[in-house]
Amino acid sequence: MIIVMKGGTTTAQVEEVSKRLEEIGYMVNPIFGVERTVIGAVGCSEHEKIDAMEQLRGYEGVEDVILITKPYKFVAKEYKGGKAAVDVGGLLIGGDEIVMMAGPCTVESEEQLFATAERVAKAGAKVLRGGAYKPCTSPYSFQGMGVEGLRLLKAAGKQFGLKVITEVMHVRKVEEVAEYADILQIGTRNMQNYDLLREVGQSRTPAMLKRGMTAKLEEWLLAAEYIASGGNEKIILCERGIRTFEPYTRNTLDLSAVPALNSLTHLPVVVDPSQGTGRRDLIAPMSKASVAVGADGLIIEVHPNPDHAIKDGAQSITIESFETLMPELELIANAVGRSLKSVVTA
Ligand code: PEP
Ligand code: MN
Repeated sequence: MIIVMKGGTTTAQVEEVSKRLEEIGYMVNPIFGVERTVIGAVGCSEHEKIDAMEQLRGYEGVEDVILITKPYKFVAKEYKGGKAAVDVGGLLIGGDEIVMMAGPCTVESEEQLFATAERVAKAGAKVLRGGAYKPCTSPYSFQGMGVEGLRLLKAAGKQFGLKVITEVMHVRKVEEVAEYADILQIGTRNMQNYDLLREVGQSRTPAMLKRGMTAKLEEWLLAAEYIASGGNEKIILCERGIRTFEPYTRNTLDLSAVPALNSLTHLPVVVDPSQGTGRRDLIAPMSKASVAVGADGLIIEVHPNPDHAIKDGAQSITIESFETLMPELELIANAVGRSLKSVVTA
């Protein structure tokens, strides 16, 4: 790290900072310029860096503390020497193929789920989404079908050859949800639930970590680092929009995060244009844009009758719209050197 001292710093202040750095385990190299002094410090372990950085910021005469290396390790791109795919029971996410995840916001009934699963699978989706435990802003709103919803998801996935993704909200539910799901979804509201992240880190089931609605990329990657450092390296990131001042859309879908993450981390990146925009009419254009900027997959809310959906109907597309969208996405995928099979013949 580099410690930049303020102009007019005294030798005693530089010595004080240098002494503390040495105590922590750094080798210290102060450089005395004409106007300022900077202290180069190398050789300390990853773990100590962050706490040391915060401590030193409070020292007299210190203007700034800059880390030379990234604060995360297991999720950094260098760790795998490039982008790496996550294997979800034989389905690669982050490989050549763009993986489509589709299904209702919330599992409502067997009829609703199976009707959706059958047709999105035929249209080329590989993963069935659906909430069984729903994080709701209001405690009076439908909280999901619970275990019955999980059971339906697993059965529909099995019947139509789809992997299943569903949200886990609580540390004590990780094992239960993992019995039914192929991918554990961690929602935006839980991105910084560190106990949950640690618990998912103990699981061997792949996880999809959604971006916290006010999270910076570095905070998001550090949340992923919690999971990876626990031993679960099968992590997929999902950009789902962030809070801004714009009320026209539910969130502002930050598509610049996709290429940015592709340069920072080996983890696959999926985009959720449903939560990302909150608007049915924006799903198709933002899906296409996501593929164009390098997303490894999309997760889209699809409902047989969005106007009657219990949750998120306004941002859910019909099954027919999904069927229309798939070949359009295939064209864009091909244009950017990726594949996407829009119709499954079997
Ligand atoms: C969802 O996928 O339905 C959902 C609640 O997502 P998020 O956590 O991104 O709001
Ligand atoms: Mn939803």
